[in-house]
Amino acid sequence: MRQRNKPWAEDMFAEHPQFVPANAPERKGNWKEVFENDNPIHLEVGIGKGQFIIGMAKRNPDVNFVGLELSASVMVSALEKLIEEGVTNVRLLNENAQDLTAIFEGDEVNRVYLNFSDPWPKNRHEKRRLTYKSFLDLYRFVMKPDGEVHFKTDNQGLFEYSLHSFSAYGMILNQVSLDLHRSEMENNVMTEYEEKFSAKGSRIYRCEAQFRS
Ligand code: SAM
Repeated sequence: MRQRNKPWAEDMFAEHPQFVPANAPERKGNWKEVFENDNPIHLEVGIGKGQFIIGMAKRNPDVNFVGLELSASVMVSALEKLIEEGVTNVRLLNENAQDLTAIFEGDEVNRVYLNFSDPWPKNRHEKRRLTYKSFLDLYRFVMKPDGEVHFKTDNQGLFEYSLHSFSAYGMILNQVSLDLHRSEMENNVMTEYEEKFSAKGSRIYRCEAQFRS
């Protein structure tokens, strides 16, 4: 994602602890207390500028949403939207998905969303793909036993790779769409990348992959 360096981003996170809780690992096992309710937790990895997570949170007020984003300069745009819209069931974390098990206790999360994840097309970068088996291990650890990964991308190569990775892991594949915008699509909330690529005529691929309990 193209980004301008925004050195003030971290100060802005610190000024809004109600949206960006400090010291995420200290919340491990206590996310219900952060949200002050028992609602299920849905996690999006790589939120970009936050259009999807905020849109989902508005439509699903009985779900708590946690968004992870590696880049502070990108995440600050999501924070600006969150402040503007005053949505209360979202928390943003400027963290790497590799550290998920330091942030969440086992079984603390109900669903994971991956949207337009970086494709890392070179074979030697396979381990960086967010659907590589070591990431699936992390999602499996933090999620309830039958938790689901909902995945969207415009990248055919990454989609094929991910279907293979999910099924090699023993996950059940549901709702596989090879052309989301030309299929019966209910309640789809678009991401920034999805808007950009679908406007150019690219196909959008989607699937739901469920861990076996
Ligand atoms: N999901 C957004 C969308 O669909 O518009 C953004 C897609 S962008 C291609 C991928 C985003 O994932 C980038 O903002 C990147 O910084 C973030 N990202 C990549 N690897 C990550 C990781 N290991 N942990 C957290 N965020 C990550």
